[in-house]
Amino acid sequence: MASSSTPTLATEPSALPEWIRVRPPRGAAYPEVRGILGELGLDTVCREARCPNLSECWSAGAATLMLLGTECTRRCTFCAVTTHWPRGVVDRTEPSRIAEAVHRWGLRYVVLTQVCRDDLEDGGASVLAETVRKIRAESPRTLVELLIGDLGGRDDALRPLLESPPDVLAHNLETVRSISSEVRDPRAGYDRSLGVLRAAHRLGPKGLVTKSSLMLGLGETDAELEMALRDLRSAEVDLLTLGQYLRPDPDHRPVHRYVPPDEFSRWQATALSLGFRGAASGPLVRSSYRAEELYRQARAARGG
Ligand code: SF4
Repeated sequence: MASSSTPTLATEPSALPEWIRVRPPRGAAYPEVRGILGELGLDTVCREARCPNLSECWSAGAATLMLLGTECTRRCTFCAVTTHWPRGVVDRTEPSRIAEAVHRWGLRYVVLTQVCRDDLEDGGASVLAETVRKIRAESPRTLVELLIGDLGGRDDALRPLLESPPDVLAHNLETVRSISSEVRDPRAGYDRSLGVLRAAHRLGPKGLVTKSSLMLGLGETDAELEMALRDLRSAEVDLLTLGQYLRPDPDHRPVHRYVPPDEFSRWQATALSLGFRGAASGPLVRSSYRAEELYRQARAARGG
């Protein structure tokens, strides 16, 4: 799924190339925002995953919040989120608390992501939908991106999310086909993820913007990566982000290779030449990086 997209930066610094730089968060709003989140019993993926872009995103009024708890029913080999089977327990106050945080913070753009909830019949879709509705009611000008899991690949779980649609519907392919089954939990799947992205256009409103992300440096070849981008385009995905995989700790999949910045730049050009309406590609790019800018590129490309 989802949160994935923000691998942590806990890799030993001595092993990191010089282009991977971690800057501590700063900025006038930082303590105040921490206060609001603490009061509401929330935290951001940005902080928990020690995202290197936190200062830039928060200064631009953008942030990523996790829904449906902080523990996931799946175990992907790249992801530091704790695995747990919560037996259908859902905190029904979460949508209101998230909506209040977005309003008090005054966010221009919020990314809502989720842990996978295979213990719930609808994968948690009703909670996601309720959260979007509450944000729309309290903060009508805030742009909302929903970064979802595969919801078991079920159209009936996806459909309610598209009834009060987010501005961007994102689902991450994460990696290329050949290593997808090693990298992701066995319940995820390359074709299932493409199916979710296709279904979003099929079931959603005309003009819905879709988005996906891949991590580089997991062992993919250039030919496989190009094929993955072509597969995403054939699923009509509008926006793409590419970033370096970083190993959260020694229990997770090792980094195969640190991809230099100039290769990321070439992939960005390739993505645009393949027809993506916007693409962000760089070692420290995460799926929510410059999300509003990418969204506006997609709208402009559609003349909307
Ligand atoms: S589905 Fe995989 S990537 Fe997403 S939160 Fe769960 S373990 Fe992490």
